[in-house]
Amino acid sequence: MRTLDELIKPAVRRLRAYTLTPRPAPIKLNQNENPFGVPSAIVAETLRRTAGRDWARYPDFVPTDLQATLARFAGWRPEGVVIGNGSNEIIQALLTMLVAPGAAIVLSEPTFTVYRLMVEALGGTVVNVPPRPDFSYDLPAMLDAARRAQAVAVILCSPNNPTGVTASEAELCALLKAFDGFVVVDEAYREFCDQNCVPLLADFPRLIVLRTFSKAMAMAGLRIGYGLVAPEVAAELNKVKLPYNVNFFSLTAAQVAIEMYDAELRPLVERIIRERERVAAAMADADWLTLLPSRANFHLLHTPRIAPGRLCEALLARGILVRDISHYPMLSEYIRFNIGAPEENDALLAFFKDARPGDFT
Ligand code: PMP
Repeated sequence: MRTLDELIKPAVRRLRAYTLTPRPAPIKLNQNENPFGVPSAIVAETLRRTAGRDWARYPDFVPTDLQATLARFAGWRPEGVVIGNGSNEIIQALLTMLVAPGAAIVLSEPTFTVYRLMVEALGGTVVNVPPRPDFSYDLPAMLDAARRAQAVAVILCSPNNPTGVTASEAELCALLKAFDGFVVVDEAYREFCDQNCVPLLADFPRLIVLRTFSKAMAMAGLRIGYGLVAPEVAAELNKVKLPYNVNFFSLTAAQVAIEMYDAELRPLVERIIRERERVAAAMADADWLTLLPSRANFHLLHTPRIAPGRLCEALLARGILVRDISHYPMLSEYIRFNIGAPEENDALLAFFKDARPGDFT
């Protein structure tokens, strides 16, 4: 009888799984979701449009309506829009397209952990170029590393999860000009700072822009993301993406969300940004912790005098679930929490107003 070690790829056996232990809490600030939920007008219209839909029939082979809508919304060509079951699926498809065994991908960790997971599962190698001490991307160093390793791609998350920094546009342009591999920019949190690389797509066909409906769009449960790429690249991505990957309900909800974005979702995004700044201002005076500037819908909190795990447990005891990210490179003294609804943020601020490092020993 052969063992699992003999049957399963060593690259997979070695991986540490992407996990998140579910912990029920009244105030959930651990997954960077939209705290306000989907506006009821979007829910009602989605239910109306899908009510008569025959569940026995597959969704469209190519979701051309949503492709056209997303193309208009993003300012790109419909043939260059690839829709996925969450942007995670697009990450998987593009790495399946690019990563042959031994291929190098340049990352700057700490960043979204799924990139490394997928690269390694596919037998590729991650070349990590740490950011500067303030967590800003060191794009010249990334370019250098990418050239030396003959990397097939550089992946950047902007704003970055979990540090909240964006890549400088000038440095990004320099990278696109000087590097002959793909540059992937994950814009999952773009709405919280107007990050937008799409205007560069026309000049740089090796640019891949990733977006999601899971954050600003309040639809994490429906699993929709998309890639904006050169049409020639879309044709290749479509070969490795599973057919019928997004169900008809989610396709319809995404269509409705875009149609109603300005009226229904943009005001929520603006509220989240205002709350982000309010929380930052309220925590600016604390002498035992530091909030880093963030351009996303979450904050990174430096807590050098308390073990992050203990702080997370103490918050949870007050009903507030945040993310312990202290196992990430460079972040052994940090926690991350996303911006909640105003009363949720008030509860978090009240916790930090009362707490002192001595309470956690
Ligand atoms: N990219 C980044 C940077 C993320 O933080 C996330 C989710 N946390 C994703 C992609 C994946 O999002 P989804 O699959 O829900 O679109």
